[in-house]
Amino acid sequence: MEISFTGKSALVTGAGKGIGRATALALARCGANVTAVTRTQTDLDSLVQECPSISPVCVDLADWDATDAALQNIGTIDLLVNNAARTSLQPFLEVTQDQFDQTFSVNVKSVLHVSQIVARGMKARGSGGSIVNVSSQASQCALRDHAVYCASKGAVDTLTKVMALELGPFQIRVNAVNPTVVMTEMGHLAWSDPEKSKKMTSRIPLGRFAEVEDVVNTILFLLSDKSNMINGITLPVDGGFLAC
Ligand code: NDP
Repeated sequence: MEISFTGKSALVTGAGKGIGRATALALARCGANVTAVTRTQTDLDSLVQECPSISPVCVDLADWDATDAALQNIGTIDLLVNNAARTSLQPFLEVTQDQFDQTFSVNVKSVLHVSQIVARGMKARGSGGSIVNVSSQASQCALRDHAVYCASKGAVDTLTKVMALELGPFQIRVNAVNPTVVMTEMGHLAWSDPEKSKKMTSRIPLGRFAEVEDVVNTILFLLSDKSNMINGITLPVDGGFLAC
């Protein structure tokens, strides 16, 4: 299936590392003008070195006002990938206010805020658009020590559906992808212990974690006009984990 984004502009959050970085590069390869947003300047420097057509924006997306300022001149955006997120592991009874607030600020609040900024432009131009929120299998199942992360991704799933409902009339589609474990920096943080990872892979019918490209390809499909009638879904990229 040939996917082209020639003539389209895309914005990817959390584009410095992992899935976001690979998504930004894939979109550029497919012809999109890409704006890459993340908070570590050295990641943006190396990304632009790798793909000079990418426009970098450095901002901490947990900061509402800084995000407004950083994105005020982004111009026309047709495709948005809300990918930035953080995780920190702790038993439920040890979760602190700070861990909760930091996680929800990035994983949920920034999805709402960046989408507002981008969707207002899409609505004003009347040209429609496609938004993909990167959620997780953790939105739909309990994972030990992941209370805050699971709750934040559950919120992303529901937010995705409300956005799809309210933005659909403007031909703005909003969907989520829900990957299983991917061995990025975030994946290593939670799943590098072989005992733990073996237990998880044994619950995945395909018997393996997802590769970054498995997730990127699904995001590209949902952004593209090949999925023109798909709106408001949370699509597992999990080898069947959530089916069991
Ligand atoms: P990584 O940790 O590898 O990359 C996350 C990126 O987001 C980094 O570039 C990071 O920048 C950026 N980011 C984090 N916080 C902020 C912030 N406040 N402002 C701006 N940028 C920020 O994560 P993955 O690539 O693994 O994850 C990408 C998405 O996929 C996330 O939404 C995650 O929840 C989801 N996911 C991941 C899975 C996995 O196993 N890896 C499984 C299921 C879903 P910096 O490094 O500078 O903080």
